[in-house]
Amino acid sequence: MKLVALLLTCSLQAAALRIQVLSLFPLTVLEIEAPSLRLGGEVLPSPSKVGLRGRLVCAGPICGEALTTYGGTVRLSVKGAIARSYPGDAQVMARSGSLVAVVNLDLEDAVAGAVAGEMPGTPLKSAIDAQAIAARSYYSAHRRRHEAADFCDSTHCQFLTAGTAVSRESALRTRGLVLRYRGEPVPALYFRSCGGRTLRAEDVGFASSPYPFAAVDCAACLRNPAVWTAQFPEEQWTGQHTEAARLELARRFGWDSLRSNDYIERRVAGKVIVSGKGHGHGVGLCQRGAAGMAAQGADFRSILRHYFPAASIVE
Ligand SMILES: [Zn+2]
Ligand SMILES: [Zn+2]
Repeated sequence: MKLVALLLTCSLQAAALRIQVLSLFPLTVLEIEAPSLRLGGEVLPSPSKVGLRGRLVCAGPICGEALTTYGGTVRLSVKGAIARSYPGDAQVMARSGSLVAVVNLDLEDAVAGAVAGEMPGTPLKSAIDAQAIAARSYYSAHRRRHEAADFCDSTHCQFLTAGTAVSRESALRTRGLVLRYRGEPVPALYFRSCGGRTLRAEDVGFASSPYPFAAVDCAACLRNPAVWTAQFPEEQWTGQHTEAARLELARRFGWDSLRSNDYIERRVAGKVIVSGKGHGHGVGLCQRGAAGMAAQGADFRSILRHYFPAASIVE
């Protein structure tokens, strides 16, 4: 009986992820609402507002290394900027001059939140289910991508917002299913649209992955690619067709300035004129292509088999 309880505890713990939330906001003051709040051995009223004092988190005169919430639900807000609720408990700590908020989320709640963030709207069921399995695979394949947490809630890991009815239903329909390669979960990648063919990890300079991401044709994008043009000053152009170089330009010129890694460039009078197709890094599942396959009646298994041909879809 004890062993069963122990195994159950272990499996529950394995399914909980620590996710750093509101990670794109500089957090100096945070309001926290939860059934129970504790800081420095004291019980705080809810909601409470906390700030920083050196390496301590403080609510008025009460300070401690971390504020912890209990009760399974928490709402975090930054006045005038953002408020978000999560189905889990949180810890708020001080790290390098900023508050860091980490929530413990059940894997399936995190999948619902990532699907809501990464594939908003109400796509066809098989496309959203393919996305849910890709998101779950990503969470299952990695651990500890951040100092204080396993994952963050930005596109650095997976963009995570509050789950919606649609995303929660999809997580439930596909519960537990992940892409696996040689028995291990695939760190599944995905992006908005391609230029008619997806790219291999090495095509965009990604570190080698245990999963061999294949370049595959993508019918919807081939038929009707999302084309774009952009221009950059020649001295800022590295000429490297890598995702790192693309993000570096994006940081300097705006997030959509160089939309994808599928483009040709020409130099004209001190400028680099770029003509491209698609949106995002181009490796793994093409969300637009998945939507196109779903519209043609494909189920989530066919979609995933197409974009991850070397993986199997299992619990
Ligand atoms: Zn991250
Ligand atoms: Zn595509």
